[in-house]
Amino acid sequence: MKPDVVITKCNYYVNEEVYKAVKESVDLLGGIGAFVKKGERILLKPNLLSAKHPEAAVTTHPAVVRAVIQLVQEAGATPVVGDSPGIGSAASVAQKCGIAAVAKEFDVDVIGLATSISVENPAGKTFKRLEIAKEAIEADGIINLPKLKTHAQMFLTLGVKNMFGCVVGARKPQWHMAAGVDTNAFARMLVDTYLFLKPRLTIVDGIVGMEGNGPGSGGEPRRLGLLFASPDCIALDSVITEVLGAKANDLFTTKVAKEDETGITDIDEINVIGEKIKDVRISDFKFPPMIGAEFKLPFSLHSYLRKPLTARPEVNNKDCTLCLMCVDICPPGIMTKTDRINIDYDKCIRCFCCLEICPEGAISVKNGWLKRLLAVTH
Ligand code: SF4
Ligand code: SF4
Repeated sequence: MKPDVVITKCNYYVNEEVYKAVKESVDLLGGIGAFVKKGERILLKPNLLSAKHPEAAVTTHPAVVRAVIQLVQEAGATPVVGDSPGIGSAASVAQKCGIAAVAKEFDVDVIGLATSISVENPAGKTFKRLEIAKEAIEADGIINLPKLKTHAQMFLTLGVKNMFGCVVGARKPQWHMAAGVDTNAFARMLVDTYLFLKPRLTIVDGIVGMEGNGPGSGGEPRRLGLLFASPDCIALDSVITEVLGAKANDLFTTKVAKEDETGITDIDEINVIGEKIKDVRISDFKFPPMIGAEFKLPFSLHSYLRKPLTARPEVNNKDCTLCLMCVDICPPGIMTKTDRINIDYDKCIRCFCCLEICPEGAISVKNGWLKRLLAVTH
């Protein structure tokens, strides 16, 4: 059976308008009762990357979280909001981004996903054992509430990637290290994590998304006026990528899901409901530079051409405040401080955790010299 993906227009973060659009989306998928039963405890998992105002588009907007809280409560279930942010606690990030206020309004708890446990993952294709937050596993079900953003490593962060927030923050670097420079391996871990957690429903906040140097403070908010909903994140992410004007397979998680046959990624095999892709397609969305071009080369050339072809993080010293957050988070520990931040590019695994965490947006993606040259000459 074809997976359903709903596209709904919603232009502004006005509570009543957002509630109407979210309800309309969920009704097109069978209504909230198809996803939530009376008496259940449902984890709402927004993107709480870091403590920013909602206008920065770093976090899921509180109006979207508010609408879903209302729907879940109307179904007689108990919502709880949780995430494992990159910087700070879930409570402090929720406070800054406005989600704590809506949680308080509806008497909902905000929890940190903080207790890591090791689990078997029979649904996983590659990663048969994972470390996941106990708080996420203990919920009766998960509703996934990502923010639509660009992502330096994965191309975009959408439904599948948002589930990585159910891995406890302190454990995330070890997954980056396990994948190393292999972007596909990291994407496979993300897909396997998603397959384990299998949120019942995902609603992507694309009313104002982020383009450019995302997913952290360096990206630019972009009004798209769209919400996307589906019980199937892989199909959902494929549809969103096409709406943004790229090919579904440009998204690394979608590419590996297709290769591994862990999800439906072909647009013709997806039942798109509501708005049509062609009617809402964005023609000028700013994507991050593609990394990992070396993997399209013959293997024998990898070691020679990897560096000049692969994009890398670059610190803009003018904007850097030497706060050291990037140094602290860098999984292989190859960033150092002198009078500036230095990166040992020979050991950099191109995970872009530094870019994601930088509160000043002082780190951007720069293409390797050969890739820049090829871009100029083609
Ligand atoms: S996180 Fe950003 S501002 Fe802080 S030291 Fe690193 S580059 Fe500089
Ligand atoms: S410098 Fe940045 S991209 Fe490179 S390994 Fe460290 S955190 Fe990852």
